[in-house]
Amino acid sequence: MSSGMPEREFLPYGRQSVDDDDIQAVVNILRSDWLTTGPTIGCFEHAVASFVGGGQAVAVSSGTAALHAAMYSIDIGPGDEVIVPSMTFVGTANAVVYQRGTPVFVDVREADLLIDPVLIEEKISSRTKAIIAVDYAGQPCDYATLREITDKYGLFLIADACHSLGATYKGNRSGSLADLTIFSFHPVKPITSGEGGMVVTNNPDWIEKIRQFRNHGITTSHQQRSRQATWCYEMTDLGYNYRLTDIQAALGLSQLKKLSKRIFQRQEIAAHYDRLLQAVSEVKPLTTGLDISHGYHLYVIKVSSRGQVFKALRNDGIGCNVHYYPVHLQPYYRRKFGTRAGECPVAENAYEQILSLPIFPGMVDTDIEKVVFALSQCV
Ligand SMILES: *Cc1c(COP(=O)(O)O)cnc(C)c1O
Repeated sequence: MSSGMPEREFLPYGRQSVDDDDIQAVVNILRSDWLTTGPTIGCFEHAVASFVGGGQAVAVSSGTAALHAAMYSIDIGPGDEVIVPSMTFVGTANAVVYQRGTPVFVDVREADLLIDPVLIEEKISSRTKAIIAVDYAGQPCDYATLREITDKYGLFLIADACHSLGATYKGNRSGSLADLTIFSFHPVKPITSGEGGMVVTNNPDWIEKIRQFRNHGITTSHQQRSRQATWCYEMTDLGYNYRLTDIQAALGLSQLKKLSKRIFQRQEIAAHYDRLLQAVSEVKPLTTGLDISHGYHLYVIKVSSRGQVFKALRNDGIGCNVHYYPVHLQPYYRRKFGTRAGECPVAENAYEQILSLPIFPGMVDTDIEKVVFALSQCV
C-alpha cells in the first residue's frame, strides 16, 4: 500500500459466499451448448420447489420480475387493490403498479415489523384481490391468521419471501405457506444467482401463465418448437423477457446445496448477537415468534439514537444499513397515490430507530464482538 496507512477491513452488512464448486458449476455451463433456456433452468426450478415443498416453480430474471409475474398470474389489473405492508422494499408495491393495480399499505407490528393482521380487515374493500405478506428480515409472517383473513374474504395470499428462503413456520418451509411465493437471488439474499428470482405455487395454471409471461407471452418455447420441427409460435398475451440464464441457474443450483448450512450459520451469528446485546440495554433486537425458524437475512435492532449510531459504526468500518424507509412515504407513492405520513405510524416510528447489523455466513466471532463493542460505545 503506497499511502503507508494500514488497510482497515470494512465489515459489510451482507456479503455473498461463492466457493469453488459454485465457480466450477458456472464454468461448466460456459463450456456447454446452452447459455440460456437450457436444461439447467428446469433443474434449478425442480430443486427449489422440492426444497421448499411447495409444488412447482418458474425461474425468472429477478425477485421483482417474480413479483410482477405473480401479480399477472392472479390477473391484477386497473382498479384492483392489493394489500402490502409499508415496511418493505419498494419492489413489493411496484409490482402491483406494473399491472396498474393499487397497493394499499398496512402497518406492521412493533416487535417484529411483520404485517399486522389485526389492521388488515379495515383496509379490505370490494376491490381487494390479494395480500402480499413480506417475511421481513427472514422471519415468516403469521400465515395462519393471514390465511383465515384471505379465506374469509376470498383473497389470494402471496408471500414475498425474498428474505426467508430456508426459514420455517410451524415446521413448514417458506415457499409452502401461501398461494404463490416469490424468492430473489440477488447477492445479499440467502442464496444468489447474481440476479434472479423464482415463483413457487401449487397451481399448474399459474405456472403455465408465468412461463409464457417470462417469454414475451409466447405459448411455445424454443425447445418445444425444435422438438415439433416447427417455426410457428403464437403470442397470446403481452409478456416480457424475464428469462434467467443457465449461467445464473447453475450458480443458484450450486448455492442451494449449501443453503441449510448457511441458514444455520446465520442463526448462530444471530444467537451470538442476542447474547452479547443483553448487556447493552439501549439496544433492542426485534423479536422472533414461537414455531419459527428464522432465516436471518437481516439482523435488525432498534436504538433511539439511530442516526448517530449509524455514523459511529460506519466510522469504525462497520457497514450497517436501514431496511426500510416506509414505502408509503416514498415521493412516488405520495404523488401518485396520495399516501401520507401518519398512515402507518408503527412503521414510521420504527424507521427512526432501526438498524441492520452485519450478518452473513463467514462472519467470525471477533467480527460480532467488534460490532457489539462499537455499539456499546456509541449508544
Ligand atoms: C430483494 C427484494 C425484492 C426484489 O428482488 P430483486 O431480485 O432485487 O428484484 C423484493 N422484495 C423484497 C422484500 C426484497 O428484499
